[in-house]
Amino acid sequence: MNRIKLSREYIYEAYIVNEKPASQIAKECGVAMSTIYNRLREYDIPRSEPHTGMCGKHLSEEAKQKISAKLKGRKKGPFTLAHRRAISCALKGKKRGPLSEEHKQKLREAKQGFRHSEETKQKISKAQIGKIISKETRRKQSLARKGKKIGPHSLDRCRKISDGLRGRKLSISHKENISKALRGNKKCGWALGKHLTMEHRQKLSDGIRGKKHYNWQGGITKLTLSIRRSLKSREWKKAVLAQGNYQCEQCGQRGDVLHVDHYPKSFATIFHTNKIDSFEQAMSCDDFWDTSNGRVLCRECHENTETYKQPIQKHLIGA
Ligand SMILES: [Zn+2]
Repeated sequence: MNRIKLSREYIYEAYIVNEKPASQIAKECGVAMSTIYNRLREYDIPRSEPHTGMCGKHLSEEAKQKISAKLKGRKKGPFTLAHRRAISCALKGKKRGPLSEEHKQKLREAKQGFRHSEETKQKISKAQIGKIISKETRRKQSLARKGKKIGPHSLDRCRKISDGLRGRKLSISHKENISKALRGNKKCGWALGKHLTMEHRQKLSDGIRGKKHYNWQGGITKLTLSIRRSLKSREWKKAVLAQGNYQCEQCGQRGDVLHVDHYPKSFATIFHTNKIDSFEQAMSCDDFWDTSNGRVLCRECHENTETYKQPIQKHLIGA
């Protein structure tokens, strides 16, 4: 029956003579709009100019308010694909803005609490990969961020940033730029770029040791601890690390936390065989500072050694 109703004559009369829109004809015949368009093509009837809608139309304030009142509280979206396409077509080539402050405020309010779904986030992220941002845009972004405090980042975010930067090789010019930017930077302190002689460092260290320290409490620090923390010990560790190529002697791990161990003669053995009973004596004991008596271990491998954190006396009984 529809087929009869949709004869060329019928459609021609409705569409061309009576100027009915396709949607109305479709409704009257009880078919989809696309059917009408298909017939139009089939019968070679020219389509009328696309509907220009509200283009260029200026509504009175009253009309605007009426529309606004009618739409208030109505949930926008989710739009159908056709609807979204229509909106996109209508907005194409149209310049929005500059937006009024009021408009901006409204947009801001409407977006408050809005969260993209994980899927959308991934889509956005994918679309951004490999995109090169123009210098102009970068300058604008930089200006917008200026003075704004970033962070503190969540642990997850920190890890992501760290992963992203790992293994990055800076060009020489980049390094120079960083160096230039930091030069004269008061925040970095007076010592920036200064290399003190060993003698100077020793003097600085001696100047705040023991009685000379503002918080001296009568020498309660264990002797072994102060030996381990001394400048000489720190320098010895550095030398052993460099000698061991900054990697665990047993499993080959590089980076992370590396321990430096007295080996084959352990710290405890040296301590007791030399009968160390003062800091000065330890500093002048060559056995402690012999770089060939040292090894580099990662935390895990060190914990698995027999001598790890063994009380000095207990270890000696075994030795
Ligand atoms: Zn290891």
